[in-house]
Amino acid sequence: MIMSKGRILVVAPDAMAVLMALADEAYEVTVAKTFGQANYEIARSIVSGQRFRLAILDFQIGDQSGVDFMLKLRAILGDINILLLASDQEKVATALGSTFMPEALILRRANPRQPTEFNSLQTKTLLKKVAEGVRLRRLCLDTPDVQLNGWRFAQNMRGISSARLLMSEFSDGPFGEVENMIFVLTSDGRQVSMAIKPDLTNRQSIVLEMPTAVGCPIRCVTCKVHSQLNRFGQVMPCRVLTTDEMEALVFIAMSQSQAFKNLFRNNASADSLTIFFIGSGDGLVFNLHNCMELVRRLIRKETPRISFMLSTVGSKSGLQEFILKYLSLPVRLSISLNYAFKEIRKKYMPGIKRLSPEELIALGGQVSDKTGEKVIISLPVFAGVNDRWADARELVRLFTDRWHQFEFVLLVGCPGSFPGRPDTTETDVDNFRLKLVRAGMPGELLSQRETFAAYSNAALAHTRPVLKARISKKR
Ligand code: SF4
Repeated sequence: MIMSKGRILVVAPDAMAVLMALADEAYEVTVAKTFGQANYEIARSIVSGQRFRLAILDFQIGDQSGVDFMLKLRAILGDINILLLASDQEKVATALGSTFMPEALILRRANPRQPTEFNSLQTKTLLKKVAEGVRLRRLCLDTPDVQLNGWRFAQNMRGISSARLLMSEFSDGPFGEVENMIFVLTSDGRQVSMAIKPDLTNRQSIVLEMPTAVGCPIRCVTCKVHSQLNRFGQVMPCRVLTTDEMEALVFIAMSQSQAFKNLFRNNASADSLTIFFIGSGDGLVFNLHNCMELVRRLIRKETPRISFMLSTVGSKSGLQEFILKYLSLPVRLSISLNYAFKEIRKKYMPGIKRLSPEELIALGGQVSDKTGEKVIISLPVFAGVNDRWADARELVRLFTDRWHQFEFVLLVGCPGSFPGRPDTTETDVDNFRLKLVRAGMPGELLSQRETFAAYSNAALAHTRPVLKARISKKR
C-alpha cells in the first residue's frame, strides 16, 4: 500500500488541471467545485479528525471570493496551508491588501489550446509548492468543537477581508473583562472600535457593541465619537459602514476574541450573543438598511443564539422605515432619550433638532404595539442636568398611559461629560430613580445599569473608547 503524502482539498470549478498535475503523486485529493461544497468537506474533516494539510483555492468562484475562504481557513482552522490559483496577479494583490498571504500563489495563464491544463513550468511550480505546503506544519490550539461551531458560524460570511484587526486591549473590572478591539477598514484605512463585554444578566452571554459608522454627525455634546481627527488635527468626514464591513468586524471578533470563542464550546445551548448596534454612529438614523441586512445574514438557528438590539437617538423617517420594513426581524429597539425636555435635548443632541420627545415616544409605542415587546428607554443620568424633580415629572407625563409599551434603563452618565459640573455618582442615580417612582413611574419598569471606569464606544452618553457596565435590576 502506498502511504499518502497528505490530504489536499482543491476548490475549483475546473479542478482537472490540478488533478492531472498531481496524478503521479501520492496525495489524497478531495475536490469541491464550489465554496458551498468546500464548507461541507471542511466541517467533515473537523468531525472525523482527517485534516487537510493543504487547500488549493481558486481566487474567485462566481461571486464568492477565494481570499475570504482563505481567511476563514486560517482564522478558524489555523493548521492548514493555502495555495491560491489566480490568473491576474494585480487583482490578487488588491484583494489581499495587508491581510494574510497564502503560502503560494500560482498564476494560471489561459492557454487557448488547452485551457484546463497547466504548462510544464506551471506544473513544476505547482508540484514544488504542493510538496512544501503539505510539509509545513502549524498547530491549532482551539478544540474541534470550537473549530466546528466557529466554522458553521462563519461559513456563509462574506466580505471578511474588508477590515483587519489593529489591536485589542482588555480592561479588567469587578464584573468581568471587557475587550476593546480596534479595526482598520481596508477601503480607506479609517479606524473603528468595538467593545466585547460580558452580559451581566446572563453569564453565558456576551454583548458585542457594533459600530455602524465612522464618526457621527449628530454630535451629542457628551460623545466624542464625532470628533475624529486626522494626524493633521483636521476633522475627518463621517461615513457609514457597509454590511460587508460590519460582517468583517463580527468575523474578526469571533476568530480573535476568547470570550467569543467560549460561546462555541461544547454546544452549550444556553450560550448566546447579543449584537448591539450601539457603537459609533446611529444605525437607525443613518445606516438602517445595512444594519438590517447584517441581521438577515447573521440570523441562525444553531448555537450561539444571537439577539440584536438597535440603539438610536431617533429619527422620524428612520423609525417609520423601521416599522414599515423591518419589524419581522428579531431586533429590539432601544431609544436614547437622555433628556425629557425638547429644548434641553436639542441643546445637547444638536443633530436631532426636528423630532420632539412626544413624537419619538409615539413612534416607539407603535414599534411596541406591533412587536408585542417593550421598547427600552435609555436614561443616562447627569447630575444637575437631567435629574431634577422637573425632569422626573416630565418623564412621567410623557409616558403616562404608555407603561405597557416601554421599560427604562438608568445609568451613570460618564464622568467629565459636562466640564465644571461634579461627576454623577451611583447615589445620584438612586436618587433620580426614587424621584421617578415618587412622581408616578412604576418601579418594576426601571432597571439600573452601573458603569465603571467610564468606558464606552459611543451612545449611552459616554465619552471614552470602551464600556464597562453592570446591569442590576433594582425593583
Ligand atoms: S452618542 Fe451616538 S448619536 Fe450621539 S454623537 Fe455619539 S454616536 Fe452619535
